[in-house]
Amino acid sequence: MVQGTEGYRFRNWANTYSCCPELHFKPISVEEVRQIIELAKQRSKRVKIVGCGHSPSDIVCTDDYLVNLSNLNKLLKVDKEKQQVTVEAGMVLSDLNEELATLGLALSNIGAVSDVSVGGVIGTGTHNTGIQHGILATQVVALTLMTASGEILECSDSVNREVFQAAQLHLGALGVILTVTIQCVPAFHIQLQRFPQTLSEVLTNLDAHLKESEYFRFLWFPHTDKATVFYGDHTDKPIQTSSNWLWDYAIGYYLLELLLWISTFFPCLVPWITRFFYWLVYSAKVMQVKRSDRAFNFECLFKQHVSDWAIPIEKTGVVLGQLKEWLDRNPDVRVHFPVEVRFVHADEIPLSPCYKQDSCFINIIMYRPYGKEVPRKRYWVMYEEIMTRNGGRPHWAKANSCVHKDFENMYPAFQKFCTIREKLDPLGMFLNNFLEKAFF
Ligand SMILES: Cc1cc2nc3c(=O)[nH]c(=O)nc-3n(C[C@H](O)[C@H](O)[C@H](O)COP(=O)(O)OP(=O)(O)OC[C@H]3O[C@@H](n4cnc5c(N)ncnc54)[C@H](O)[C@@H]3O)c2cc1C
Repeated sequence: MVQGTEGYRFRNWANTYSCCPELHFKPISVEEVRQIIELAKQRSKRVKIVGCGHSPSDIVCTDDYLVNLSNLNKLLKVDKEKQQVTVEAGMVLSDLNEELATLGLALSNIGAVSDVSVGGVIGTGTHNTGIQHGILATQVVALTLMTASGEILECSDSVNREVFQAAQLHLGALGVILTVTIQCVPAFHIQLQRFPQTLSEVLTNLDAHLKESEYFRFLWFPHTDKATVFYGDHTDKPIQTSSNWLWDYAIGYYLLELLLWISTFFPCLVPWITRFFYWLVYSAKVMQVKRSDRAFNFECLFKQHVSDWAIPIEKTGVVLGQLKEWLDRNPDVRVHFPVEVRFVHADEIPLSPCYKQDSCFINIIMYRPYGKEVPRKRYWVMYEEIMTRNGGRPHWAKANSCVHKDFENMYPAFQKFCTIREKLDPLGMFLNNFLEKAFF
């Protein structure tokens, strides 16, 4: 019989949310997952699954049972002909990337980090960039789900279709995702090119950039009109990396954290730090060729608060213009660089921020140098107001101030998801505070 441990404290990656569950479990088999659900039912407890705990919100937090799926992390099946793999949902993307590389396969797109689990990635709608590419969950072709009754549902486009679509962005609210089948592509290299432009230039040429590069994204440096454009494209060229002594020896990392910490006493330094780092690191042209997964991942530096909403793609210029104008009018509000801008293809997933619309994600950030909080309330409130005004939808992993009514207005298929959730989990075993705010 599976045993839980007492006294465990969960903290998310950014150390911004934590909880002390009554019991912490690390099942080693599907049977043990079933036993946990049975125990929770008998004792009227709630259950939360944790992948790698990277979500910058309290989406994983619970006072009852927290279940870590890191032991359910195997590659179960390879279909070479269809280029599909089936994995246990606790598998971490960094392990999957290596397994795929040995098979001559790859994922067509992944996010900024690979130390996230397959179940977690599809739990929150993880995305990267590339207007021909959807959120990562669009690569999923089938999955199995253990519901609150202990039943295991097979789901795909042809079996339990509605549950499948809902489970492609499940919020941990439908049950335990046990296995996921993913459509892969032949292994490939990406040529990365980075070059400076002004924000106005990027926005004026947005359509051209989107056409020019498969994985186009850009960074804007607030308090300036400076931007850095990133192109990423398939290539047959061999791996070619250019050494950057600043980041290779983590000098840039330590310097930035120190300077941002000093700026907590002298906030007027923030725009200067931004300009300095732009000049030092981001204004140079760089060309590299990397294995695809290594090209998608990038250095996320140190602990941080982030917010990331999707807006209809045609609003990109308007929204960035409004954000810049507000910052220009309020010079006492100092915000950290960068604002990261990415582009994602429309999909049919009910809770996806890209549901039925090509979207632009605008990610804002405030670091916590040496764990110190930096005031960010006015920035966050204004950002959310601008996003809401322009038809924005928040990223589910990231904390926001929205409540049930807001989600109903923003997500056209929200009610459809709620109906499926109520059917699969009528007693609310998989709820927590984060989900109650969204569903009630
Ligand atoms: C440094 C950093 C960089 C990031 N970069 C990006 C990025 O580029 N793009 C982006 O979109 N996001 C990004 N994120 C957010 C991240 O991708 C998501 O938070 C993702 O969900 C994290 O995966 P995880 O395994 O840590 O999931 P967790 O945070 O552990 O869990 C997320 C949700 O999934 C549920 N869950 C997990 N596994 C299962 C399962 N098997 N069954 C049922 N429910 C489950 C959890 O209960 C929870 O609701 C980043 C986060 C960090 C910290």
